[in-house]
This record gives sequence, structure tokens and C-alpha cells, in this order.
Amino acid sequence: MYQSFIGLEIHIQLLTESKVFCGCTNRFGDEPNTNVCPVCMGYPGVLPALNEEAIRLSYIVARTLNCELSPRAIFERKNYFYPDMPKNYQISQFSSPLGRNGWIDIEYAGKPRRVRIHEIHLEEDAGKMIHAGDMSLLDYNRAGTPLLEIVTEPDMEAGEEAEILLQNFRRTIRYLGVCDGNMEEGSMRCDANVSINLEGQGLGRKVEIKNLNSSRFVKMALNYEITRQKELFGKGGKIVQETRLWNENRDVTEPMRTKESAHDYRYFPEPDLPPFIPGAEFLAKVDKGLVELPEARKARFVKEYGLSAAAADFLVAEKATADFYEQTVKLGAAPAAAAAWLQFDVRKILNRDGKELADCPLTAGRLAQLLSLLADGRIHGKIAKQVLEAVFAEDKDPGQLIKEKGWQSMSDMSQLAALVDQALAANAAAVDAVKAGDRKPLGFLVGQIMKQTGGMAEPRLVQELLKQKIK
Ligand code: ADP
Ligand code: ZN
Ligand code: MG
Repeated sequence: MYQSFIGLEIHIQLLTESKVFCGCTNRFGDEPNTNVCPVCMGYPGVLPALNEEAIRLSYIVARTLNCELSPRAIFERKNYFYPDMPKNYQISQFSSPLGRNGWIDIEYAGKPRRVRIHEIHLEEDAGKMIHAGDMSLLDYNRAGTPLLEIVTEPDMEAGEEAEILLQNFRRTIRYLGVCDGNMEEGSMRCDANVSINLEGQGLGRKVEIKNLNSSRFVKMALNYEITRQKELFGKGGKIVQETRLWNENRDVTEPMRTKESAHDYRYFPEPDLPPFIPGAEFLAKVDKGLVELPEARKARFVKEYGLSAAAADFLVAEKATADFYEQTVKLGAAPAAAAAWLQFDVRKILNRDGKELADCPLTAGRLAQLLSLLADGRIHGKIAKQVLEAVFAEDKDPGQLIKEKGWQSMSDMSQLAALVDQALAANAAAVDAVKAGDRKPLGFLVGQIMKQTGGMAEPRLVQELLKQKIK
């Protein structure tokens, strides 16, 4: 009988070299207050200048999220005081944000859902306050770094949908290379808004939840809040419009403050920044930044390479992995084998060694070579795994490693046949058992020959020869 409504405000820090309105370095983790200047510190009389890379990345996101692009994006001052913002106002966008009326498609419990994007605007981030005992410290390195805010319509109903939307969105921005999407470090942040009402009565009174530093907490906080509001409603209580904080130690939301309304900020146009008018040349640069998105790529992988949904999911999760995979296939590897090796053997080594695919001795060329040696029977499966380890350890090509280590399969038929004859002669009891219909001793006989050849015999051939000869 109740309906719930969820809308998200997502902030992402854009991966530009410099800040959005000055030339200071934009980098996480530097010595506090080393990346500052009069502009981002809000000294009187300084002039901000728009960073074109920041606005380009912003339009890439807006295009990707199907937004109408503003032909004339306006920057405005949002006035409020807080110690982490030395200017006493934040340059943001209000009356004409750069993107509007877009959408993100998600799927939850087998059902598709289109979540509309209300708007996307570019603003500057504030500095960081660090509370240390009874002192508060301020680091202004983050002040003035480019922050893109994506505001959805209240189109979701369950915490799970918000979690899925955030995961999809995170994957998307990482694909685009506009943000690293690290919610723990705060380069991607999310405020969650939620209300409930009786079915058919439209939106309820909104509660905003902050302090959510993972998509799982977003889900948990929203579901907690929906339950809390329903109980309150059921008891005839009144839901107040307020901001609440997620307490991740107790798994509850707690009141923080009643929310100020928009006009308290006294927005007015930033007099020192002209409206941004995206021209044809700029828009062409934006188009160049668009990429095939993970969902589309996954569908293509399933269709084009015949992969399972799970394998495709794994491969497209990171763009680097998907690119590596396609490159390996392009170099001749069988699509199924390349997928399986990346998903299992390669991933296991990367996890164990704490390495990234983009930054390790294995290249698409080397994996393709390894898989072709395997497919041609020049090495067999167990040796192939050894070769992979050796590529990581010695940073050499599989072909070279096999030669150096004498790891070629023994696949010379006459040589193998002689070994098989020997084994048959030495194990008459096993041979009789096989003849009597017991298949188990066959494995034992293969094992004997593998042992004799130091593992180099091609097990498939040995098995075939054994069967022929016993017959
Ligand atoms: P504010 O003016 O308080 O910032 P907005 O109307 O700009 O509020 O909306 C901020 C976010 O809250 C948006 O993501 C929006 O979808 C969501 N939202 C707004 N009203 C409601 C509501 N009644 N219930 C749930 N979410 C809401
Ligand atoms: Zn600066
Ligand atoms: Mg708002």
C-alpha cells in the first residue's frame, strides 16, 4: 500500500591535470595545502578561467547519459559559508546546467527500468576538513577541483536499484576515463534522497542521506530509511524533511540537520565567467571521447564471440581487460580459450601478485602465442600453465621460454609408441583389467608414461595409442 521514491545526487571528481578555474594541480594525496593559489583560495580581485578539459569531460558524461546539451551553459555563485570553502561561495550551475533530461537504463530482478537524469552540472569542489581531537585542520588542495554533479529524478523504488545504478554508472565513468570512481577515497560520492507515500499519492516528504561511501551502504541506508518511514507513517507519525547521516557502525540513519531550501544560497551569475557556448569544433572533440559502453560491449561479446553472460560480464567490467581480450582474439586466439584463460588462470596470478593486466609482463601478443602453441599441440595444458607463470616471472615470450626450458610436447608418434609398448609390457595386470572393461588402469598407464617423460608427452596422444594397442 506504500510506494517509495528514490533519487540520487552523484558527484564525481574529474580526472583533469589542473583545477577547474585555475592552473593548480588536481591530484589526490599530495602534501596538504601545496596545490593552492590566490584563485582557488578566493583572494579578492582574482579572475577564474574555465578549464576546457573539465568542460569537455563534463559534456562527454552528459552525452553518454543521453542528456540534452545546453547551448549556453551558465556558471553561477552559490553563496554559503563553510570553513572548507575559502571564497564563501561555490562556482556552480543553476539556471542553465550543461546537461538535462537524460537517462540511465538499469535492470533489477529481471525488470528493466529507465531512471531519468534531471540534470548534470559542473562545479568546483570544496577543500577538506580533518578533525583531529579538539582541533580541525584544513587542506585546500581539493578546493577548486572539478566536480560533476549528476541528479536523477526520483524514479527508483528500492535500495537495490540505487546500488545497481551506481555500479553501472561507476563502470561507465571508468570506461570513459573521466573519473576513477573510487567511493572510499571520495572521488565518487552519492547523496541518496528517499520518500514514501500511500500508493497513488505521488512523492512524499523527502529525506536526504549523506555519508555514504560505498554503493552497498547506499542500498542499506535507503532500505533502512524506507522501513523507518513506513513504521513512522503507520503509527501516524510525521516524517520531517531533513538530512540524515548513515552510521556504518550501527547500520542506521541518524538525523543531522533540517535542510535549507535552494533560495537560501542566493544564486547569481558568476560575473567573471562568460556563459560556455559549445561550438561545432568543441562538440567534435566531445564525440571523440565517447566509447562503447560496458552493457553494449557485453551484449556484443556474447553475440560475436559466443561467450556466456558470466564470462562477458567479467571481461567487460574493466575496459583494460575487455581491450586486452579483443586484442588477443584479433591476434588469432580462439575466443572461448582466451576468455577462459583471462577469467581464471591469468586473473589468479594477477590477484596473487597484486598486479594489473595493463601493467604486467603478459601482453595480448604473448597470450595469443601461448594459446596457439597449446592449440597446435606443441605444448599441453599443464605445461601451458607453467609457461604462463614463467612469462610473469621472467618477462619473456612463451615460444622462447618453451625452447629455453625444453618444454615442447613429446608428440613424435614413433617415440611415443615405443614408450607405450614398454609400459604395456611392464604392466600386464593393468592391461588385462582394461581388456576386461575396466577403464581405470588406463589412467594409471598414461600416468606411467607422463612420469617417464617428465610430463612432456602429449597426454591425448598417449591415451589414443594405449587404446589402439590394447585393442
Ligand atoms: P533540493 O532542492 O532539496 O536539492 P531537488 O528537487 O533538487 O531537491 O532534488 C534533489 C534530489 O532528490 C533529486 O535526486 C531528486 O530526484 C530527489 N527527490 C526530490 N524530491 C524527492 C522526493 N519527494 N522523494 C524522493 N526523492 C526526491
Ligand atoms: Zn589554484
Ligand atoms: Mg537541488
